[in-house]
Amino acid sequence: MVDADDLVDFIDRRMRMSHVYQPLLLRTLVEAGGTATVRQLAIAFLAADEAHIRWYEDRIKKMPVPVLERHGVVVRDGDIVRLTAGALPIRERARVRAACEHRIQEFVGRRGLSVWDYTLSEVAPVPERTRYSVLVRAGGRCSLCHTAERPLQVDHIVPRSRGGTNDEDNLQALCDVCNRGKSNRDATDFRELDGIATDS
Ligand SMILES: [Zn+2]
Repeated sequence: MVDADDLVDFIDRRMRMSHVYQPLLLRTLVEAGGTATVRQLAIAFLAADEAHIRWYEDRIKKMPVPVLERHGVVVRDGDIVRLTAGALPIRERARVRAACEHRIQEFVGRRGLSVWDYTLSEVAPVPERTRYSVLVRAGGRCSLCHTAERPLQVDHIVPRSRGGTNDEDNLQALCDVCNRGKSNRDATDFRELDGIATDS
């Protein structure tokens, strides 16, 4: 059995951290009364992800706000964004919320989770060292067309939107032309077609 003293002792002295994940998970569980679903934990992680939050602050100011301002639907004054319709009565709120929900579901249903893809690649880019070793392994050539004449890009074999990681074995070198031709839905590992060993 572990009591609060053990827990604090573990957190203070024994927990070895390579990221903030462990204390974040424990804090969330304690706040939730001791039990949480994996999804609840993921939402708490997202809310604590300062890089993600800043990225969205920037995104919000650059993209939806100016468009909605041009349509006279919202106004922004510094950090404050306001509906021009003001604070709606409860019944009206439900109608507007349902209309928004409908458009969100429809869009995500059509485009899939790749709607959120760009956030992942910008918030967590491939580390320089990994990038370099992928390019070295490819011998400076595109893994598909073998050209050494065009700039090479490091491509995620399983896209970030589908859970692909920045691990070296999920990366391959593609020239810009081949990379453009590879859609997000196609998780082809061109190194296999090449017969280039993936574990070299
Ligand atoms: Zn190529």
